[in-house]
Amino acid sequence: MSPVFNFSAGPAVLPREVLLEVQGELLSWHGSGMSVMEMSHRGKEFMQIAAEAEEDLRAVMGIPANYKVLFLQGGATTQFAMVPMNLIRGHASIDFVDTGHWSKLAMKEARKFGVSTHVVASAEDRGYCYVPAQDGWQRDPQAAYLHYTSNETLGGVEFPFIPDSDGVPLVCDMSSNFLSRPTDVSRFGLIYGGAQKNIGPAGLTIVIVREDLLGQTVSGTPTMFDYKIQAEGDSMYNTPPTFAIYVAGLVFKWMQRQGGLKAIEQRNIEKAALLYETIDTSNGFYHCPVEKAYRSRMNVPFKLAEERLDEDFIKEARARNLLQLKGHRSTGGMRASIYNAMPLEGVKALTAFMQDFARHHG
Ligand code: PMP
Repeated sequence: MSPVFNFSAGPAVLPREVLLEVQGELLSWHGSGMSVMEMSHRGKEFMQIAAEAEEDLRAVMGIPANYKVLFLQGGATTQFAMVPMNLIRGHASIDFVDTGHWSKLAMKEARKFGVSTHVVASAEDRGYCYVPAQDGWQRDPQAAYLHYTSNETLGGVEFPFIPDSDGVPLVCDMSSNFLSRPTDVSRFGLIYGGAQKNIGPAGLTIVIVREDLLGQTVSGTPTMFDYKIQAEGDSMYNTPPTFAIYVAGLVFKWMQRQGGLKAIEQRNIEKAALLYETIDTSNGFYHCPVEKAYRSRMNVPFKLAEERLDEDFIKEARARNLLQLKGHRSTGGMRASIYNAMPLEGVKALTAFMQDFARHHG
């Protein structure tokens, strides 16, 4: 089979090495005679898998000891509700940075909990093509927390900095650039994200939360939505997404073999630079709407100057084994997601195709 390059925004490409490992031990994990899918989550085999996954994530990301790591379900969308339920802690309002689709949804959900949501800055004025500079943010020092989306998966806008929150807990939806670069976890109150982009299969949601923020849920919070209960039960209050945790654990080990987050970041910079350069030097055949300083290294949206060529672009790309390039239905155009597991060769194949396509149709 010739290689296929999958540019899906998520669920997305996983390291081939990891998939082969999974295949190799699918029927019998480490001589146990059982597939991980068949194991009790309370058995010693799976307990070891889960403990190692947490340990490896802590090592890869450098997570300080006073942070809990939770392996949950429900996706980042469930966190849009779970974060306010746990972190409002009697405050009257929450601060949000509005950078587009996902930050808006997070804010909409938080509004259901009887607090006001306050937009400290919005990029709506210019069609969400940038991140508003922090010196202009109108922050509330009494806010329960400050929420932002470090990478807008649809818009392709990524924060080049970690905001300063001056003692207000900083909360980040890191779904689409989780583990794509080194991150100083100690700057955050809470980080959350679905696994299905840079980490593993869909069905696993990761939450990293500072211990002192736990235990003050709003009344009526369901048991499963209480971080403290999840932390006390080692994310096994009920049956966790065992297979997804197992695969994520293998991805964390793969990341270590890649040289850790610094080395992974370098490769991500190189891949993104190549793709943006191809767009920018196409004499307007392709166009990326995002301002250069805020362009995502993970999700690269671009448009063809002539929309009538969109279908041909997708069709011809598919013929060259370049898959899932169609942009989100709300934005149109194209989007190439180039997460950690996308090899440089994949981006090279895409840019070579883009140049050929522009030559033939330009
Ligand atoms: N936030 C961001 C930044 C996302 O990209 C997504 C999914 N594409 C979500 C939240 C929602 O995630 P989930 O589907 O895991 O609920």
